[in-house]
Amino acid sequence: MAYDRAKMLSQYRITAPDKFRLKDMKPDDSFGLTLSKDEAKDELKDVVKSIAGKQEMLYAQDQWSLLVILQAMDAAGKDSVLDNVMSGINPQGCQVTSFKAPTSHELDHDWLWRTTVALPERGRIGVFNRSYYEEVLVVRVHPEILGKQRVPKSLIGKDIWQERFDDIRAFEKHMARNGTKVLKFFLNVSKEEQKKRFLERIDEPDKNWKFNAGDVGERMLWDKYMDAYEDMIRNTSTEHSPWFVVPADKKWFTRLVVAHAMDEALSGLGLAYPKVDAAALEEMKKAREILTKEK
Ligand code: ATP
Ligand code: MG
Repeated sequence: MAYDRAKMLSQYRITAPDKFRLKDMKPDDSFGLTLSKDEAKDELKDVVKSIAGKQEMLYAQDQWSLLVILQAMDAAGKDSVLDNVMSGINPQGCQVTSFKAPTSHELDHDWLWRTTVALPERGRIGVFNRSYYEEVLVVRVHPEILGKQRVPKSLIGKDIWQERFDDIRAFEKHMARNGTKVLKFFLNVSKEEQKKRFLERIDEPDKNWKFNAGDVGERMLWDKYMDAYEDMIRNTSTEHSPWFVVPADKKWFTRLVVAHAMDEALSGLGLAYPKVDAAALEEMKKAREILTKEK
């Protein structure tokens, strides 16, 4: 690693949310790194290997869990992060959940319910492809969705979004206090790059399946989404779970930042393999004897 990873991550971690402005973050930034495709691949492989080693300890220790949240506009590279970062991790210890428009069953519950039941168990890494943050993004940009949720009208006032932020902060504090480390990534793609990627999906037959005509409609609301993202980050970046605003115009860099942030977060948990007590050691000694004497 020919760069200072702590410094790199600190550029994208939002620690002064009051001063945060989305326009100060450059989607095509890569911390001055110019890696070739192969170099980036090798570099990522090393980081993923390190994550995999720590994940084994996380699983063995069975106390902490890690929740990774991915939020982004369409075509920002959520899938590429999932494919390339999670692929090297033992699937037994990792759960990916995608959240689409809520089903009627989900709408019978409050907006935090479906993500709560999908939280990772102790010892696991859980990844949310979209999350409860959609409540202050798509729902804020399309407030008519609130009607479908059947929340009593008297409870929806002018402070509704501030109340949602309060609830998210409280929920994440609760998770922090109970051993779930929450890592949140906003993959910050530029409007130009999104257009390029949409056109590729239309023009390249192998990518046609990824194209969703509805995404163009959401693109037309770009500025509203950016305002919602900025307000979300300003209101929900906290000491225990800050947002990372990850440049997303270069996919190799996006993956690398997410992987490093995961590896760093796992390092901070003080993981260790559980120690075996004297009685268990004695038992193992006996088992060893039986096994070696076997004919
Ligand atoms: P991909 O397009 O790569 O398959 P995706 O995450 O964009 O992945 P889609 O099925 O295209 O998946 O989109 C999911 C849609 O569901 C998004 O437009 C998102 O905003 C919407 N959605 C997610 N959560 C909610 C919610 N709580 N309320 C309303 N809409 C939601
Ligand atoms: Mg989509």
